[in-house]
Amino acid sequence: MKQYFEDFKWCPKCGSKYSKKDFNGKSFFFNCKNCSFNFYQNSKPSISVIIPNYSDKSKILLTERAIEPRQGLLDIPSGFPIYGEDAIDSALREIKEELGIEIKIEKFLFTINQDYIYQRLSNNVIVIYFLAKPLKIVPKKIDHKENSNCQFYKISDIINYPEKFAFSSDFKAIKSYFEKLNI
Ligand SMILES: [Zn+2]
Repeated sequence: MKQYFEDFKWCPKCGSKYSKKDFNGKSFFFNCKNCSFNFYQNSKPSISVIIPNYSDKSKILLTERAIEPRQGLLDIPSGFPIYGEDAIDSALREIKEELGIEIKIEKFLFTINQDYIYQRLSNNVIVIYFLAKPLKIVPKKIDHKENSNCQFYKISDIINYPEKFAFSSDFKAIKSYFEKLNI
């Protein structure tokens, strides 16, 4: 299995070559022996939005991923904030870009950490889950570069199939949302 220190070979500040011992695996940073720069590997935030169906809140909007990682599997609509962007602004922008619709955020739900490989680099993502106000219609103008399909799924139909989901964080989130719905 690949070790994290193999992801970065050179100091991003001065360009000196890293060796294995320059990586601190406990606090997750590279320390450059040449310029002393500490290159911290923090978890990255991403946002995901659970969008329930207006007439049945046990149905939620899911997309089918058109791209790697995990192409073809189910995804809660999501994305990464642009540098400096607020989490809610990021959620509204991503949904508009991906699904072509304006949503309103009902509330913050919870966060779940998720390991994520992107372009062969290891990442740990703190997924920030929001709940949107229920939606009456299925979005028609989805961005097919990222998603091949988008529809409402009845949670009870998919709750026993974690393998259908691109990310275990989304499966856990849906389970948690569904449990609260039934209290
Ligand atoms: Zn350096």
